[in-house]
Amino acid sequence: MRHTEICIDYTALQHNLQRVRQLAPTSQVVAMVKANAYGHGVENVLDAFHDADVFGVACLQEALQIRQLGCNKPITLIEGVFSVEEMPIALANKCECMVHQQQQIDWLLQYKAQYQQANLKVWLKINTGMNRLGFKIQTADDIDAIVQPLLQAGFKCIITMHFANADELQHPLNQQQIQLFKAIQNKYPELQYSCCNSAAIYNWADLHADYVRPGIMLYGASPFADKSCHDLGLKAVMHFNSQIMQIFQVNAGESIGYASSFVADKTMTVAVVAVGYGDGYPRAYQQDNFVNIAGHQVKIIGRISMDMITIDITDIANEVKIGDTVQLWGDKINVDDVAQAYQTIAYELLCRITTRPMRKIINKSTQ
Ligand SMILES: *Cc1c(COP(=O)(O)O)cnc(C)c1O
Repeated sequence: MRHTEICIDYTALQHNLQRVRQLAPTSQVVAMVKANAYGHGVENVLDAFHDADVFGVACLQEALQIRQLGCNKPITLIEGVFSVEEMPIALANKCECMVHQQQQIDWLLQYKAQYQQANLKVWLKINTGMNRLGFKIQTADDIDAIVQPLLQAGFKCIITMHFANADELQHPLNQQQIQLFKAIQNKYPELQYSCCNSAAIYNWADLHADYVRPGIMLYGASPFADKSCHDLGLKAVMHFNSQIMQIFQVNAGESIGYASSFVADKTMTVAVVAVGYGDGYPRAYQQDNFVNIAGHQVKIIGRISMDMITIDITDIANEVKIGDTVQLWGDKINVDDVAQAYQTIAYELLCRITTRPMRKIINKSTQ
């Protein structure tokens, strides 16, 4: 069997959620499990996150998957419903809706009685400078026209916003967004509030408010370019492992793989590893990318294929054999470092894992 696996560290998931609790002890936690739990498989994380207060997903289909797994925890659709037809389904499945535009508010009003009977809250998204989703607000007074009709109709509201630069503490837009948010908090102290993703949870303890919305930190990756998961007290959850399937030598002047892009300058020992872009490993060409074999950083050479990569094991040739485990990222090689080498972010690497690697849960105590 081809042992290309995504091992999900159950204890690490629990540890990272505890870390959120430690940082934001008085807030409720919306555990973000959108995009199939950032590529980890939502069915593999729900149980470890049983201590979370709410699950956050991007759309109704993701919420329904959670319900089908037998989970009754509150769910927030962070982009709300996409059509009025989704409203009754959202209601039947007890999903709270974000609203970011007038049409969604009209749909809510159509289903007002059922929504309030189900005791669901409305997450009102305001745009304080991110300029993506939300009602555009220039001053705290601008919110009156949006929130008053909802309150008068009897809805309970949670005012939410999203930072454009939460990972960059000094970015000037942060203060603009924070000031606007705080002004609204002062104007409507009776409402609930939420604005912190992972980076903001670390950066602004005074903004944790009623709900924090951690995503990437729950999976043990860093939201900051200059801080590692260890610096942040997090543990890697996804261990992406494969195995060596062939070992051979090439002579100086021989090339390796597609497009013959790598040419050996000396006699080298090469190993073929059973992983490629068909599993979700990035294909983008870079100079220096590494995998980990038993604690050694080993360099990738030649093109990334769909099902295989080739690595230079010349220096450790007498220590490795066919079948040995190779880690692409995980507890031995940091996904943030791999992402940086490919000029992307851990979020993308985690999400782009395909269905081919086998998934298994590790470090789950059996008691
Ligand atoms: C995805 C998402 C989050 C989580 O962001 P991280 O950077 O992964 O912590 C929080 N809030 C909203 C609205 C999101 O879409």
